[in-house]
Amino acid sequence: MPEKQNYGGLDAFRLIAALLVVAIHISPLETINPEADFLLTRVAARLAVPFFLLVTGRFVLSGVYAGETAAGSAVRRSCKKLLGMYAAAALLYLPIGMYAGHYDGLSFGGLLRMLVFDGTFYHLWYFPACLLGILLLCLLRRFLPARGVWAIAVILYLIGLFGDSYYGLTANVPALEIAYESGFSLFSYTRNGLFLAPVFLWMGAASAKMEPPKNALPNAACLLVSLLLMTDEAFTLRYFQLQRHDSMYLMLPVCVFFLYRLLLLWKVRPPQSIRRIAMWIYILHPAVIVAVRGAAKLFNRTDLLVENRLVHYLLVCLLSTAAAWLLTYCLNALHKRPTSPDRAWVEIDRAALRHNVETLRALLPKDCALMPAVKANAYGHGAVPVAKELNRLGIRAFCVACISEGIELRRHSVKGEILILGYTHPSRFHELRRYRLTQAVIDCDYAEILNQYGKKLHVHVAIDTGMHRLGERSEDTERLYALPGMRNLIIDGAFTHLCAGSSEAPEDRQFTLQQAERFDHVLDAWKLQGFDCPRVHVQASSGILNYPELVGSYARPGIALYGLLSREHDCNRAGAVLQPMLTLKARVAAVKELQAGESAGYNRAFQAEQPTKIAILSIGYADGLPRTIPGGAVLLRGRRAAIAGPLCMDQMIVDVSGIPDVQPGDTAVLIGRSEEAEITAYELAEACGTITNELLSRLGPRLERVYI
Ligand SMILES: *Cc1c(COP(=O)(O)O)cnc(C)c1O
Repeated sequence: MPEKQNYGGLDAFRLIAALLVVAIHISPLETINPEADFLLTRVAARLAVPFFLLVTGRFVLSGVYAGETAAGSAVRRSCKKLLGMYAAAALLYLPIGMYAGHYDGLSFGGLLRMLVFDGTFYHLWYFPACLLGILLLCLLRRFLPARGVWAIAVILYLIGLFGDSYYGLTANVPALEIAYESGFSLFSYTRNGLFLAPVFLWMGAASAKMEPPKNALPNAACLLVSLLLMTDEAFTLRYFQLQRHDSMYLMLPVCVFFLYRLLLLWKVRPPQSIRRIAMWIYILHPAVIVAVRGAAKLFNRTDLLVENRLVHYLLVCLLSTAAAWLLTYCLNALHKRPTSPDRAWVEIDRAALRHNVETLRALLPKDCALMPAVKANAYGHGAVPVAKELNRLGIRAFCVACISEGIELRRHSVKGEILILGYTHPSRFHELRRYRLTQAVIDCDYAEILNQYGKKLHVHVAIDTGMHRLGERSEDTERLYALPGMRNLIIDGAFTHLCAGSSEAPEDRQFTLQQAERFDHVLDAWKLQGFDCPRVHVQASSGILNYPELVGSYARPGIALYGLLSREHDCNRAGAVLQPMLTLKARVAAVKELQAGESAGYNRAFQAEQPTKIAILSIGYADGLPRTIPGGAVLLRGRRAAIAGPLCMDQMIVDVSGIPDVQPGDTAVLIGRSEEAEITAYELAEACGTITNELLSRLGPRLERVYI
């Protein structure tokens, strides 16, 4: 399975970058050693903002770079966000700026220059720069290929460079000086959205197409060398006093590129909130600086808290981080206002799953592991959350019906062996390897096709012992003999499926035991041949409950894991007490009174013979219920309400005549309890003319799933 790219390193560095920006504004080492301070704040810390730009480019502009038509929505979303942040930050600093006299005698041109280029407060230039850069690149990409945009971004950077740390050279050429000086009436520096941002944003955009780096060493070496060169560049420029400002260096893009590559290899997993915290540190730290100075003055400790720059820096970092964390925490809490599901939903009880796992485990010997069937979206319970919960309970093997189900689990980092019980088309064999999936050998012809793929594949051999569905016929020992010799098949296991395990009838029990005998016969034949199959499994739910003697290395419970049998009175010799996990609910959308003689629904299917009160529920056959449920009912306020006529696609009608106070917004229970009353999955399945397996596995994706 390809590792999902881990961006943890980038996220972690955001925090470091934010603290570097704080350093730029404080110069923590100045009183100790001005040279060291220059190295820290004018060289190393200059990587911070370009790093932020590059990461933004990576996640916002990669679609634009590739020329994708749908790329605009990501751009719009992030521009909106940046604008929001900029506005919030600008407002936050308005009082401080006014107090400091930043806005005194501001002309319209001055306001524009502040808003678009310089930022409304000194460090806020980042936001308009990022926005302007993004817009510029999108515009250019409309008319140019990605390479053309590259060229322009690089040229703009070079122009910026000669207005920044190389300005000393520029100023020697009178024509250039005039040009730049007129530019400086538009913007105070060239480190802005026009000259600095585009090259870093575009670099990030381009990086999405690059192979992720594999080795840290070459990247670290390149980073080190380019950092040394940039240090040399910066000190040289300073020595000759060429710098007008010190944000842009020739080596800066190179350094940032290798830093980025190196960070991609840093496999940490910081909490998600670290991104916001870093951004808030960036925004808040000047306010914290002001506050610390104010407080120091108040307590007469300016000598220690401000003039000692290092102490000042550490204090500001600490307080800014604390403030950013607090703010992020509060905003998260505000955003997470619990929304209740609005239309129709299933509630999944995790505790019941734990109970069922424990109950089933107790029925099996220690060396038999559970290999739960999480096919069909875990019988409607949600494959990924269920499998992840099972992972947490120590389960390391699963079965699914088809390859896409297996891939879905892998994409969500479900751990352990995943066996595909059904057919996989040869065009997808490469995905078996890519996602480390185990394929069932559904018969010997299929084994040959698998073997011909030419690369090793992990398989479990399915043996047909009487169900006559998938599996090679157990009688066909000749053909089964050939399997262990196939060089590309790694046979990890063999299994068979019982088809009458839930029946108490003597002939069915006999049949089941015969199935087991046939399976053993194949295993014995293989053993004689010298092949000892590593793992074997026979029992599904009914096998676990009724045939403890058929235990293998695995057991594959499906329906029992979800707390049910197929039918209420299915054989359960073990007497296991299972807990159903699923409750099905729907919202009452409207309540209506019908007069005698009126009808409701398509084809006037429901006829009110007397004055009748009906409720319309927001659930229909498109949610996975059958259209007709004869004799079916739902629960409302602890009372049963009969289903009135066939279901519509998205709604159903129930008769609530006997139930006072039913209101729009009420919750109707289709499976589960309401006060004293209960409708079990068995009851609804029976009314639907089917078994619980079908009823639950068909519950559709439109139903919200709530895990409790
Ligand atoms: C679906 C399935 C299971 C799980 O069956 P339950 O009766 O739900 O326990 C086990 N094995 C195979 C081969 C299956 O197809």
